[in-house]
Amino acid sequence: MTTAFFTDERCFWHGGGNYSFTLPAGGLVQPGGGLPESPETKRRLKNLLEVTGLLRELDVRTAPEVTWEEMARVHPESYLFAFKAASDAGGGELGLRTPFGKGGFEIAALSAGLASAALRAVLTGDVRNAYSLSRPPGHHCLPDWPNGFCLLNNIGIAIRAMQAEGLARRIAVVDWDVHHGNGTEALFYEDPSVLTISLHQERNYPLDTGDAEDRGRGAGLGFNLNVPLPPGLGHTGYLHAFDRIVLPALHAFVPEVIVVACGYDASGVDPLGRMFCTAETFRQMTARIKAAAETLCQGRLVLVHEGGYSEVHVPFCGHAVIEELSGSPIRAPDPLATTLEKRQPSARFDAFARGWIDEIAALHGL
Ligand code: ZN
Repeated sequence: MTTAFFTDERCFWHGGGNYSFTLPAGGLVQPGGGLPESPETKRRLKNLLEVTGLLRELDVRTAPEVTWEEMARVHPESYLFAFKAASDAGGGELGLRTPFGKGGFEIAALSAGLASAALRAVLTGDVRNAYSLSRPPGHHCLPDWPNGFCLLNNIGIAIRAMQAEGLARRIAVVDWDVHHGNGTEALFYEDPSVLTISLHQERNYPLDTGDAEDRGRGAGLGFNLNVPLPPGLGHTGYLHAFDRIVLPALHAFVPEVIVVACGYDASGVDPLGRMFCTAETFRQMTARIKAAAETLCQGRLVLVHEGGYSEVHVPFCGHAVIEELSGSPIRAPDPLATTLEKRQPSARFDAFARGWIDEIAALHGL
């Protein structure tokens, strides 16, 4: 059984807006530079996989765009009409930091299509597990409000499609992007069929969501786990959060498939995060979640690419994830490992972080 890798060149062609970093250019903000969400992080991951030869061990595929009906299960048609009209007219921006160009609607539908096809391939037993190099990302997108570079909620659309097709009912989402998965949380907040777990830097983005106390509502109460983490957390702290919260929550839920919202912005050199993860951290998180999937759901595991803004480091973190996912012996050693190992937090900080994480575990009854 193979690992599938879903990718499409058109995803790298998404773009728009006149930004300098996260700020609209104008006034005293000199134009140029563009958004940190550029094609390069993702394209360079694919390129590195090609250079090392790992890509040749994967089942590389593309996929069709999701249909209007599939999008409309998650997003109100008023939003879809507005997005499509602006996209046809040459591009624009409808939310917060979500510019798109002409045809951006179709590229976003393709990005969600890659995620949906990845999930479908795993659930039908076509492949063992899968990675979707989706772009634009999806985990911030609310039903009617795109934000944080996300225009459609890729994972949400994919999950609703699988449920509608009867391929799975109980699905767990583990979001290790450094930012809160506010869009995914909103979609499933009252739904006990989807467990959403978000590990994120406290009060990074969005500034006002992601509290540990937000645990779901109604029938969904207890099925949303937020794990806001202190800035400065490194390798040991992330793995502690995994062992103390993520894995016990997955074992209690027993999903039919696990989906990872796979962002790399907890990297120690990411411009939009303040954490100290290395490629090895991402490898070990992948190993843990793969083992959980093997115990709980016959290894059914899908990773969907989200954020991560270091053009140099994302490819190495992603390569480590895909090495682990596929079980390949091909390696691409992390060139920042030595530097980042020296930057890991002190034992004193780690003790503080363990206490912080243990408190959140207790809040979730774990
Ligand atoms: Zn992010």
